[in-house]
Amino acid sequence: MTSGVFERAPWRVLSIPGPQRTFTVASGDTFEDCDPTTQELVAEVRSSTVDDVDRAVDRATHAFRSARWRNDGAVRGRILFRYAERLREHVEPLAELLTREQGKTIGEARSEIFGSAEMVEYYAGLARTVDGRAFALGDEAHGVVLREPLGVVAVITPWNWPLTLLMRALAPALAAGNACVVKPASLTPAITVEALALLAQDPDLPEGILTCVLGSGGVVGNALVSHPGVHMIAFTGESGTGIGVMRRAAEDLRKVSLELGGKSANLVFADAHLDKALDGAMNAIFTTTGQICTAGSRLLVESSIYPEFVERLVERANALKLGDPLDPATTLAPLVSFIQQGVVRKFVDLGRAEGTLLTDDVLPTNDLIAAGCFALPAIIADLAQGSRVVQEEIFGPVLTVHPFDDEQEAIGFAEITEFGLAAGIWTTDLDRAWRVGRAVHAGTVWINTYHHFYPEAEVGGFKKSGLGRQQGPVGLLEFTETKHLNFDSRTTLW
Ligand code: NAD
Repeated sequence: MTSGVFERAPWRVLSIPGPQRTFTVASGDTFEDCDPTTQELVAEVRSSTVDDVDRAVDRATHAFRSARWRNDGAVRGRILFRYAERLREHVEPLAELLTREQGKTIGEARSEIFGSAEMVEYYAGLARTVDGRAFALGDEAHGVVLREPLGVVAVITPWNWPLTLLMRALAPALAAGNACVVKPASLTPAITVEALALLAQDPDLPEGILTCVLGSGGVVGNALVSHPGVHMIAFTGESGTGIGVMRRAAEDLRKVSLELGGKSANLVFADAHLDKALDGAMNAIFTTTGQICTAGSRLLVESSIYPEFVERLVERANALKLGDPLDPATTLAPLVSFIQQGVVRKFVDLGRAEGTLLTDDVLPTNDLIAAGCFALPAIIADLAQGSRVVQEEIFGPVLTVHPFDDEQEAIGFAEITEFGLAAGIWTTDLDRAWRVGRAVHAGTVWINTYHHFYPEAEVGGFKKSGLGRQQGPVGLLEFTETKHLNFDSRTTLW
């Protein structure tokens, strides 16, 4: 056992040598964590209580007082470099656990582990660069501006990319010298705890710098967000939940970073490399079975190529292979839960009623499909821009398609929702890519590609898609506070 939170865990795969350090605080009831493909038990998990959240924050507060941790970026960097290596050494068991718990394809799970390791490694390098600046203020005074860690950071994560989204907040928060309390989504506790155990075992990591609490958002997440000992909340999840988090943090003016929902537009112009744009449109919406915040869920296609492009896309979508996500031949994995399946069905029904469903409509019948949380890919045309199917984040394999006549109309359609997380532009006209890229309000705009993320590049949302930025150098500075030390060597004050 890597921690005391798993009562039963038939699929547990990691066996970490050496003495294990406890980093979870959980003494409440247990809940079952099941495989969305087979419904088999992944783990019976002990949840945390509100008192456990108090204990976790106290533990982190105490650990943060250690001056060595706060002031020694070299030590922090070395711990994070070692952690990145450990993640890579365990990629296969971690990927298998991720697939069993979350349902994503094994190929995607592997890339998530490698991507998480890269994120940790990037911030391991930056841990030694949290520096400030000094300047003269006349002849006898000078200033030193420092970047200091904030204190206790709560990291609250969703279930769709549970490790990447955790690491892009946890790694910079630790690199900057904070103490962290992590609260994963209750659908993905096992992969989170197993991956964190590889960090917690590092003998140089001070006791209490990393703590994990488990359980529902309504109880455990809420207690963490409302805790006065938490200095910053790094939250990734739905826009509605994020707005509630910010409201509670505002009561005593604590800092938040919010990475929220999206309804991203993917714009295909007639001059694009159409085969590549087709691949891009598929990848944009069907990655993680559409359960990705940056999903390109609104496809806008220039009218002159619209009929042929959409016909080819529908053919490709109908050819996706639903199946066991551990089978490398599977190209469309199940959704994370039956709840998510219900949400997707509701939106597809609405789309069918208000527009035209272009893709196949009957799930294959076999034991696997009957047991799992599967959904067919759905491409829906002829919807009004005001339709809920066009406006709301669905978080499933549902794509709306719309023709446009010119650049201005395309930009207008792209801008029509309350979200501003990402967009895609497919064109061979560099001037157009620049113009449209600048015009669209989104934190990431991909040109002739989609869903490529790099630790070096900041991500985040405009409008209701978020506040603040993660990744890149800015993603590190978000976890710091600025302090001016002002020195004056005059013998009298005035
Ligand atoms: P969610 O908002 O339901 O939950 C996210 C996390 O918040 C979970 O750990 C949950 O337990 C916790 N939580 C829920 N209620 C809470 C409360 N009242 N107080 C404190 N914590 C609470 O989101 P989800 O369903 O897990 O994830 C899907 C959503 O996340 C989608 O909207 C998606 O777009 C968004 N997302 C955004 C990004 C991004 O980078 N912008 C990345 C991934 C997912």
